[in-house]
Amino acid sequence: MPVANAVKLNLERSSWIRKMFEEGRKLKEQFGDANVFDFSLGNPDLEPPPELLKALKSAVDTTQTGTHSYMPNAGYPFARAAMAQKVSEEHNVSAKAEDLVLTVGAAGALNVVFKTIVNPGDEVIVIRPYFAEYSFYIDNHRGTIVSVDAAPDFSIDVKAVAAALTPGTAAIIVNSPNNPSGRIYPRADLEALAAVLAKHGASCGRFPYMLVDEPYRDIAYDGIKVPAVLDTYAESIVVSSFSKSLSVPGERIGYIGVNPAIADKKNLVDGFVMANRILGFVNAPALMQRAVSEGWRAKADIARYERRRNQLVAALDAAGIEYSRPEGAFYLFCKVPARKDGAQLPPGCTAADTPDVAFAMHLKEHKVLGVPGIGFGYPGYIRLCYCVPETVIAAAGPSIAKAVAAWVG
Ligand code: PLP
Repeated sequence: MPVANAVKLNLERSSWIRKMFEEGRKLKEQFGDANVFDFSLGNPDLEPPPELLKALKSAVDTTQTGTHSYMPNAGYPFARAAMAQKVSEEHNVSAKAEDLVLTVGAAGALNVVFKTIVNPGDEVIVIRPYFAEYSFYIDNHRGTIVSVDAAPDFSIDVKAVAAALTPGTAAIIVNSPNNPSGRIYPRADLEALAAVLAKHGASCGRFPYMLVDEPYRDIAYDGIKVPAVLDTYAESIVVSSFSKSLSVPGERIGYIGVNPAIADKKNLVDGFVMANRILGFVNAPALMQRAVSEGWRAKADIARYERRRNQLVAALDAAGIEYSRPEGAFYLFCKVPARKDGAQLPPGCTAADTPDVAFAMHLKEHKVLGVPGIGFGYPGYIRLCYCVPETVIAAAGPSIAKAVAAWVG
C-alpha cells in the first residue's frame, strides 16, 4: 500500500482550482491559447515592480561570505525587522523583529501556525466560502475545520461565529480582502468579532487566536483602505506574503507576525521557529528575504486589476449574471443562474453534481474556465479570477453571454 489513506482521501478531494487549471491547459493545447478564456487560477500576471527586481538583483550580486548559507530558522534579523516595520504600520501596533518569522509564503506560514497552536481535535473556524487549501492545512495538523456561513453580502456574520465558538476553538481565520468573494471586512465588523472572541475567552478561559490571512492587503479598489486588524484583539496573528501584491508567488516568501500584546509570546514565537524548521522549510528563501527587506514598499500596478474588475463586471452585467462586486483581491464570485428545465447535463457531469459544477462544465464547453463554488465550500457559485490580460476579458465577454443564454434557455 504505497500511499497513506489520508493522502488518498486528499487526492480525491483535491482542489477544484487545480482541476480547472489542468482542464484549461488541455483546452489550450487543443484550441490554442488565444481561444481559451482561463479564469481559474490566482496567478498574478503583472510583472513584479522594478524596485523589487532591483533589490533581488543586488541580493544576487552580493559577494559577502555566507550569503547563501543556513541562517537562524526565523530568518535574517534585518528581514524580521523590516517585516516588523510593515506589520506595525499596517496594523497599528509596535511590533519588533522578535515578533516576526519569515516563511515560505503565506501557505507555509499557515502550516507553521497550525502546527504550533493546534492540538489534535482542536477546532479552527473558517468563514464560508473560504480558500479551499485551509481544509488541507488544518487537517495536516490534525485540527478540525468548522465552517460558518458568511452574511449574504459575504461579510462576517458575527452572531454565527459567536454560536460556533467552543472551548475547543483554537483559532478563527479572517481573510480580507477575501478569496473567493473579493470582500474587504470593514473595521466595525472586525471590532465586533474581536469583542465576541474576547467575551468567549473570558467566559471559558481559552481565547481563540484571530488568525489574519492577508496576502491581498495591497489589492484594494475604489479607494478603500484595508483596515488594521491586530489592534482590535490582543490574541491576534497575521500571516501574509508577497505572492500576490508583488507578483512573486513562485519565489515563496511570506511572514508571520504576532501582536506584541499576545499572551505567552515567547513560547508562541519559539514554536513558530521550531515548526518552520521541523516542517522541513528550515528557513524562508535567503535571496527573497533580502529582496523584500529592501523592496517591500514597492507597489504593483493595482489600477490594472481594478480596470479588469470593471471590465469583468460589465461583461457579467451584459450576460445577466448576479455577483458580489469585488472590493479587493482579483476574484469575482458569481451566482449560477437557474438552468432551463429539462436541459441536458454538460459532458463530464452527472445528476449528483451540484449546479456550480454543472455550470463550470457548461462554461468549459464555451472555452471559459472558472472554479465551482463547491471548491470553496459554497455550491451554487462560480469563482472567476481576473488576473488575466484585458484582451482575454474582452474576448471572453461574448462567450460568457452565449454560454449563459444557452444555459437559461
Ligand atoms: N491565503 C489565501 C487566501 C490565498 O488565496 C493564498 C493563495 O492563493 C494563500 C493564502 C497562499 O499564498 P502563498 O502563495 O503566499 O503561499
